[in-house]
Amino acid sequence: MSHDFDYDYFVIGGGSGGVRSSRIAAAHGAKVGIAEGKHWGGTCVNVGCVPKKFFTYAADYRPSFDDAEGYGWRAENISFDWQKLINNKNTEIKRLNAIYDDLLGNAGVTRYEGYAAFKNAHTVIVNGEEITANKFLIAVGGTPRSPFYEGAEYTHNSDDMFALPTLPKRIVIEGGGYIAVEFAHIFHGLGCDVTITYRKAPLIKSFDTDIAQFLTSEMEKQGITLKLKTNIEKIEKNESLSVTLDNGDVIDCDVVLSAIGRIPHTNNLGLENITLDQTSNEQIKINDDYQTSMPHIYAVGDVSNKINLTPVAIAEGHILADRLFGTSEERQANFDNIPTAVFSNPQIGTVGLSEEQARDKGYDAKTYQSTFKPMRHALSGRDEKTMMKLVIDIKTDKVIGAHMCGADAAEMMQGIGIALQCGATKADFNRTIGIHPTSAEEFVTMK
Ligand code: NDP
Repeated sequence: MSHDFDYDYFVIGGGSGGVRSSRIAAAHGAKVGIAEGKHWGGTCVNVGCVPKKFFTYAADYRPSFDDAEGYGWRAENISFDWQKLINNKNTEIKRLNAIYDDLLGNAGVTRYEGYAAFKNAHTVIVNGEEITANKFLIAVGGTPRSPFYEGAEYTHNSDDMFALPTLPKRIVIEGGGYIAVEFAHIFHGLGCDVTITYRKAPLIKSFDTDIAQFLTSEMEKQGITLKLKTNIEKIEKNESLSVTLDNGDVIDCDVVLSAIGRIPHTNNLGLENITLDQTSNEQIKINDDYQTSMPHIYAVGDVSNKINLTPVAIAEGHILADRLFGTSEERQANFDNIPTAVFSNPQIGTVGLSEEQARDKGYDAKTYQSTFKPMRHALSGRDEKTMMKLVIDIKTDKVIGAHMCGADAAEMMQGIGIALQCGATKADFNRTIGIHPTSAEEFVTMK
């Protein structure tokens, strides 16, 4: 290790990727510093996965109250307290922030609370202090993309949703991706009038088309208003907000959430003082060793041009620390079959290839599909269905894609993901005995 620098490894960004990488590097004996400008734990813990899941749980209660009546319950005088949800969520997140801070401290990582900016290739400035390091990791994540149209200043982004002072009565959500459909479920579940505007159709277009169309129609059935193949033209502020679409429709609402993707959070990082190759979307280009175009500067997570998911950033940060400072075998991860979920209603769980991707990749693919009313709704009376789909490579009989839109899809797909890692065939699925009565058993009985 070099003794000419303050640190062997300096990590910029205390989110999922940065925290894991700095802890592991320190455990391997490196002298490690880390800078975080806002909150330990980054997007996932503070304004992403974690609070989103709390809000999702809150939203899930409402249909459950209705469902329970079919089972003999009578749920009367139900009320919802937005401020209580926000306060309880904040308390839990403060606890998690402290845990992250402790984990770093216990690992012997020196923490800096402030934004770091490169002064030159081996120096960053944090809160006016110059810090040098032999190697750097950029793990600064992403930030919501801002829209550009008249009145764009009246929009909120997903970060803002976790601290809204009051629950809106009417909300317009712009976008058709993960964040748009998840917040549509949250606000619909909490009793708001929800409209989604999306420039294409169906929603969540990047998923298997059958699953995307199924979710789109289930959401519409619940009473979420969909304005597909439309763009927002302008927003005007009177007593409320008036959103004008390019098809001439005008929607009055209290809040507009713009969820049109995220961009790397690279501003104020001093990138003008070093030379890193970036994509046209400002993502930092990295090679298979997480190395940027400057070999001693690395990047992982949402700031890079790889997959943008928390568990991916954690795995990348861990592998990188093992490679740079470890002596034994590095952490293994397969980034090919990454199970993922969308916490919409119904949920989506997916792993492997969609039918379209399989055909694009040249597979001779066969699909199995099942749409059914889950047993729970036999008595609840709720008109909600579940869809499952398997994509099979005819040549090998291997299951190369598994997709579900229905209750508990996220929980189910982790196990199916292991099966795909092991190269399970449709015959393997068929000879697995189902768990009865569950929705999951449908995955092993599809004919
Ligand atoms: P997504 O990339 O999922 O979706 C962005 C949406 O915005 C798309 O529908 C896109 O349309 C639309 N869009 C993009 N640019 C414009 C524009 N200029 N005008 C109008 N619409 C536009 O991004 P999200 O913001 O929903 O989420 C960001 C990332 O966060 C995700 O990619 C995911 O990696 C991560 N995430 C993961 C979650 C999970 O794992 N459950 C949950 C939430 C976020 P089009 O389809 O036409 O391109």
